[in-house]
Amino acid sequence: MSRRRFGTRLFLIACAVAAAGGLGLLLGSSLSPSRGEPREEARPSSAILTRVPISAKVVALTFDFDMTPGMLFRMQSGEVEAWYDPTVLHVLRQERIPYTIFITGLATLTYPDLARSFAHDRLVELGNHSHRHFAFTPDCFGLPFIGEGRAQEDIETAQQTIQRITGVTPRYFRFPGGCLGAGDVAIVNNLGLRIVHWDVAAGDAFNPDADSIIHYVGDRARPGSIIAFHLGGPNAPATADALRAIIPSLRAHGYKFTTVTGLLSLLECGAKGPVGRRSLPFSLTPAAWKAPCRDKPPVL
Ligand SMILES: [Zn+2]
Repeated sequence: MSRRRFGTRLFLIACAVAAAGGLGLLLGSSLSPSRGEPREEARPSSAILTRVPISAKVVALTFDFDMTPGMLFRMQSGEVEAWYDPTVLHVLRQERIPYTIFITGLATLTYPDLARSFAHDRLVELGNHSHRHFAFTPDCFGLPFIGEGRAQEDIETAQQTIQRITGVTPRYFRFPGGCLGAGDVAIVNNLGLRIVHWDVAAGDAFNPDADSIIHYVGDRARPGSIIAFHLGGPNAPATADALRAIIPSLRAHGYKFTTVTGLLSLLECGAKGPVGRRSLPFSLTPAAWKAPCRDKPPVL
């Protein structure tokens, strides 16, 4: 079966599961979701960072920590043990990989100690992934629609929850399912957040086949790539196994790893500090870059 056909089949399975169980999921990306086949790559946009245009062989592994009210209910009722896989975190720690987690407000509330441990880990960066992982458009991979006029409240609730529990103020926001409607970019930016999606969707959501993830990422990763995974658990059962192969394979090809901010600092920070706005896909004030340029995230 071709990879594309496999991806389509996986998408249909995932939608059926999501519709039946209210699971959160993120497969590929569709900035203007249609009823046809999902796009596997996010479309570049002046307002959305999907890749950082550098030539150095450095990539950012990013992980979505989804949590819908339906997922929380299934955990509290004992149907699901956990919505993340500790093995994923173990592999990342063992390999000393800096990474960015896009965490939902509900996941932060559900796992406060884990969220704080991310905040205290110098290799981990936290981004905002909405509060309830509802879709910001009515047609987004079977996710429940957030409702008209509810976007700002949801994003702010997540931001305040993450700040209150971890002490970290996220700089970046990732839309659940990668779906956004007219006006959503302005809402996010007006809250002081920048939108970060991906150029490589690992395709690990509901995918039990580690080999397909390994080959998909291996074929597409390039300098400056932002690679989107999930933190594992029942909605990403093969992520840990895939990472065990992907990390050494990329290293063997000369790649290093950093956070999203780390990628941006490679583009924006000279030896003496910020080099100004060059070719960033979105504008950042010099003030926003003082700290990252002074204290550059590790590249390992
Ligand atoms: Zn998600």
